[in-house]
Amino acid sequence: MASKKKRIPIPTELAAEVLFRSDRTCCVCRKPGKPVQIHHIDDNPGNNDPRNLSVLCFDCHRETQISGGFDRKLDADQGTLYRNDWHQIVLETRAKSATAKEESLDLRVDLELVTSLAEIYRDEESYWRLAMHYDAIQNIELRDKYIDLALQQQDTDDETHIFLRAMQGRADLIPLDVIKRERERLADNPLQLARLHKHLGEYGEAAAAYVRGVVDRLSTGNTFAAAFYLKELYKDGLVEELFKLALKDAIQRKDIYWQSRALEELGWRSELRELLLKHASEIRESDDLFLQEKLAWAEDDSRAYVDLHKEIARRYSDG
Ligand SMILES: [Zn+2]
Repeated sequence: MASKKKRIPIPTELAAEVLFRSDRTCCVCRKPGKPVQIHHIDDNPGNNDPRNLSVLCFDCHRETQISGGFDRKLDADQGTLYRNDWHQIVLETRAKSATAKEESLDLRVDLELVTSLAEIYRDEESYWRLAMHYDAIQNIELRDKYIDLALQQQDTDDETHIFLRAMQGRADLIPLDVIKRERERLADNPLQLARLHKHLGEYGEAAAAYVRGVVDRLSTGNTFAAAFYLKELYKDGLVEELFKLALKDAIQRKDIYWQSRALEELGWRSELRELLLKHASEIRESDDLFLQEKLAWAEDDSRAYVDLHKEIARRYSDG
């Protein structure tokens, strides 16, 4: 028998249920809206026992792959603890926000749709829809298989081509002539162009194009479209990408204050704490009360925090 463990695809219904129980959210960092995947806690891709499956984002998944000795940040026991704890929180949150009846309806609708939609798309040989479908339930093997099939189909247009590669996180595989044709086609359509920029990882350009398009729609009285695209701009993670760019920029400038502000806005609290503690002596020597206040938070020093807060209030309240 081969020593390499064989990967067995996770049955669709089980995948849907695992994702539902975790609210499609990484059970370790729990940051909403991040793309997630289903992880085998014991690292055996053939063990699809529900107790062995958890939902992780790509960043946290990487932590589980650092193998060997003490470097391994997230082992199987921890993985199970995080998972069970998160399931409990999701359960309690749902109990507060909806009745049990509504929840079981949601789950049944999810399961029903997951199985029946796949059948419809397969009958129609609509491979790009199947790819989207398997992406939604995070069956990566089947998603990639149907992306390959869709890209072989004659009638797959440039827009779909780019969309599928972006979904896969592989914009680097898109041929340059496909990108060039799409840029030309959408030159006069800022909102479509915004999506193209986003798919290609051009986040600043994407935000600028969205804003141009929204201003345009408002000026012609199309309030619905303006609201729709503003919502898309906000909900699809573009704002977070801009904060990440701002963070990169602040790191290059070695500007600790703006690094800390970007980390705050991203909600990356452990990274923020790490940054402040690393520069503790530098911050103490500076006369930046705002940074010192943040440092007091990082050091869990409530006395210093309150004193600094009062000092800031005194200094900036005159006038
Ligand atoms: Zn995570």
